Amino acid sequence: MRNVNITIDGMKLNVPGDYTILQAAKEANIYIPTLCFLKDINEIGCCRMCLVDTGAKALQAACVTPVVEGMNINTHTPKVVEARKVNLELILSNHVARCQTCYRSWTSCELQTLANKLGVDQERFSGEAKKYDIDVGISIVRDNNKCILCRRCVSVCHNRQTVGVIEAIGRGFDTHIGSPFEKSLWETPCVNCGQCINVCPVGALRECVDTDRVWAALNDPTKHVVVQTAPAVRAAIGESFGIEMGTPVTGKMVSALRMIGFDRVFDTNTGADLTIMEEATELIDRFRSGGKLPMITSCSPGWIKFCEHNFPEFLPNLSSCKSPHMMFGAIIKSYYAKKMDINPEDIVVVSVMPCTAKKFEIKRPEMHVKGLRDVDVVITTRELANMINDIGIDFVNLPDDNFDDPFGEASGAGVIFGATGGVMEAALRTAADILSGASTDAIEYEEVRGFEGVKMAEYKVGDVVLKAAVAHGLANARKLLAKVKAGEVDLQFIEIMACPHGCINGGGQPIQGSSVRNWGEVSALRAKALYREDKKSYYRKSHNNPAIKRLYKDFLGMAGGTMAHQLLHTHYKEREKYPENK
Ligand code: SF4
Ligand code: SF4
Ligand code: SF4
Repeated sequence: MRNVNITIDGMKLNVPGDYTILQAAKEANIYIPTLCFLKDINEIGCCRMCLVDTGAKALQAACVTPVVEGMNINTHTPKVVEARKVNLELILSNHVARCQTCYRSWTSCELQTLANKLGVDQERFSGEAKKYDIDVGISIVRDNNKCILCRRCVSVCHNRQTVGVIEAIGRGFDTHIGSPFEKSLWETPCVNCGQCINVCPVGALRECVDTDRVWAALNDPTKHVVVQTAPAVRAAIGESFGIEMGTPVTGKMVSALRMIGFDRVFDTNTGADLTIMEEATELIDRFRSGGKLPMITSCSPGWIKFCEHNFPEFLPNLSSCKSPHMMFGAIIKSYYAKKMDINPEDIVVVSVMPCTAKKFEIKRPEMHVKGLRDVDVVITTRELANMINDIGIDFVNLPDDNFDDPFGEASGAGVIFGATGGVMEAALRTAADILSGASTDAIEYEEVRGFEGVKMAEYKVGDVVLKAAVAHGLANARKLLAKVKAGEVDLQFIEIMACPHGCINGGGQPIQGSSVRNWGEVSALRAKALYREDKKSYYRKSHNNPAIKRLYKDFLGMAGGTMAHQLLHTHYKEREKYPENK
């Protein structure tokens, strides 16, 4: 693409001809406000916050207007400034501003930030406002009274996830975000991934909050409350306290959990190691016994629900392994309960997850052992940050602490579960050793790392050639599965994570506003934090983790054995398809 010469606010620039005005301005450090714009996700120019004067009859939206040779752009003439202000005031006039009690108010409300930036400090327009019922689902709460109709959620759900269960419905004053036939989100094939929450600029979307249930358990002297934290949580929770993005804060997080009052603080990485033991064994079994291949990972409940709705023909391909925190929950209520001589009915297992879909997962009817739920409560990374704030813990200055025994150790393979490709890499580390019957040098499987939508790799593992693929984000999963179905690719092992980039960008992670997301590398920094933790781990293969060895020796017997199957494996079911996905 040829470069073009343009002028912005008197500054002469030479920029690629496929740039928008917004891109050109950003590179020249010229500020243009945005609200609906989210790079690569929602580029529709509907909020009119980024209006600029190009000399054309009408002001232009910088986020969707391409540069052309000789263009002369002014970003803050009185006409531009007034138009932006009026547009923002109109948006505010139909937004229920319950800022005092809104969870985004003190963290990341882009509307509030913009109002402050543009100097909008009064409500000039008031009149009839729409009133909507709040839609409380299994994982997600939608409050259309706060919605500003930016449509970011619609774009992410349709384009990134290809789920498409929310849409702008109605016209003019009646326009609102809803699901077909005005169904509640939980009645649709929504996969609970929470990606819509992460992109919402205001508090119109959030997870179902379960912190009250955790406080209630902690205040009940008859309960033994155990918490486990997923790998991706440590890579992001520091952001909620102003710690530099990409800084792992494992030790501080453990200290905070102890101060909150949990009886035991465990690491879901142990559950991830257990998952690898079972999943690698299952893969090898399928290989040797002519079982259904490609085997597809089952750690991501968002992906599982997507498969159940849209690709039921692949249900036999799914690994029967429960996800790591569910496996770990089942172990806590059996092995750990026995070891500690505690009635499992008195144990409350709380999982801190980067994920909103796990709130749905724990309620699946099949996720129990003899009537006892594997996990009792899931809270997101954001909810944990709120609990830490609720009791005024100075997170930044906390000393480091370690996870509790008997699961104090976990491997680096467990920690990389949080990034796309991590489950595959962890499984390969173990499968290589099992198949070759020795400890191999193979640890880093670079080909399955990184953020390419679909990654393919071929490995010689022992005497077997394993063709593997990794997809993250459900649009990429859909593309890959279409190829498998059409026989265009021949694969034995597939990793799929529902969220783009994996759990590090899960729907329960701290929300980074568009000013960071559009121009920074949030996921890359979080992933780096996990790979750094892996690199410095003493054990980097799941099967070398002494806690896991002990667990099999003292309790489970062999990987893939009867006891393991009773506690750690599950099954799936076909679910209703949406007409447009049939
Ligand atoms: S949770 Fe995921 S699937 Fe459900 S509406 Fe939001 S983006 Fe769509
Ligand atoms: S719910 Fe949030 S992301 Fe969706 S349109 Fe409304 S304000 Fe935008
Ligand atoms: S990718 Fe991770 S955060 Fe997203 S739905 Fe799956 S498990 Fe949850």
